[in-house]
Amino acid sequence: MSNSGEIWVIGEQRRGRLEEVSLELLSKGMALSQRMGVTLSAVLLGDEVGEAARELVFHGAEKVYLLEHARLRYYQSEAYARLLAGVIKEREPQIILIGATEIGKELAPRVAAKLRTGLTAHCIDLYVGEVDATPQLIHVVPGWGGNLVMHIICPQRRPEVITVKPGVLPKAVRAEKRKGKIIRVKPDVRDKDFSRIETVEVVKEPPKGKSLESADVVVCGGWGMNALGGFSKVQGLADILGGVVAGTRPAMDKGWVEEARMIGQSGKTVSPELFVSLGASGAMHYTTGFMGSKVVLAVDRNPQAPIFQMADIGIVGDLREVLPCLIEELKKERMPRKS
Ligand SMILES: Cc1cc2nc3c(=O)[nH]c(=O)nc-3n(C[C@H](O)[C@H](O)[C@H](O)COP(=O)(O)OP(=O)(O)OC[C@H]3O[C@@H](n4cnc5c(N)ncnc54)[C@H](O)[C@@H]3O)c2cc1C
Repeated sequence: MSNSGEIWVIGEQRRGRLEEVSLELLSKGMALSQRMGVTLSAVLLGDEVGEAARELVFHGAEKVYLLEHARLRYYQSEAYARLLAGVIKEREPQIILIGATEIGKELAPRVAAKLRTGLTAHCIDLYVGEVDATPQLIHVVPGWGGNLVMHIICPQRRPEVITVKPGVLPKAVRAEKRKGKIIRVKPDVRDKDFSRIETVEVVKEPPKGKSLESADVVVCGGWGMNALGGFSKVQGLADILGGVVAGTRPAMDKGWVEEARMIGQSGKTVSPELFVSLGASGAMHYTTGFMGSKVVLAVDRNPQAPIFQMADIGIVGDLREVLPCLIEELKKERMPRKS
């Protein structure tokens, strides 16, 4: 870490609109740039995205490097990675922050490999700390099956490339009075960049079912639901509670929930009034996705499962007995009482 070399936030836009994670990265970028005494810049690739570039300034970027071209309208794996690596080599920023979105997760390792530098993926926080009396940027990442929080440094290679999980950092506050420079960089777009893969169209699927992020109640099943042969009882409980169904990674891998309904570090972050966790051990990769919930109710047969350390209400028991019982009791509660 040094006091020369900018911090760069890679702005992510879809259809010209900035993804929220870009604004989250700017808030962290501002704090770090003030602490380190360096400039905070953003980079934006796209086509006719001048308005999004101005938004990056209003949210804290002192400079925006803008690479506009008709063929960059959609995210293009090879073109974006090559152009980004090129502009980084030319201007030598010391830190690159990328959102750990589907696009960011693909782009960041490609860029890091081209620059022959380190990449820390899925950070949940960043701060400046002292290691052996030298200030270092510390990358905070859940690791080792999610049971430890790792504090990672990249002391030798520059720039440090870091992806940050969307939804964990606060967004930068917008202020139209903020001034910044928009620097146009002519992208050297080549046909070769599109010879192996080219995005020609983006089709947005209509959302299936109720929105997970805005639900008051989320009922989330884990691998323990295998004992009941799948997710029908998770759905049953969600229906009674008026909630939506979600799953852990093994539940998603098994096909019980779609990827958009996976909770955790690589999935969705939710903060409902009630989060019900059924047969999930409580790995940190998973629990980071619902830490902001008001009440957490967990059911698991293992009394030592880490989930019970963060649950407000814990039921130790076999789901094959507990879940039908819970559903029955809740059904009775819902039925009009006989006088
Ligand atoms: C980089 C990285 C990112 C990751 N991101 C995510 C993420 O975003 N989301 C995520 O979920 N995971 C993620 N993971 C995986 C995560 O570390 C855990 O492996 C995962 O969360 C475990 O899921 P689980 O709790 O469903 O399964 P398990 O850990 O296998 O737990 C199953 C639980 O079910 C209980 N059980 C079994 N049978 C019964 C029964 N009959 N009755 C009651 N309880 C029962 C067991 O006691 C156990 O506690 C990630 C991992 C890595 C390395």
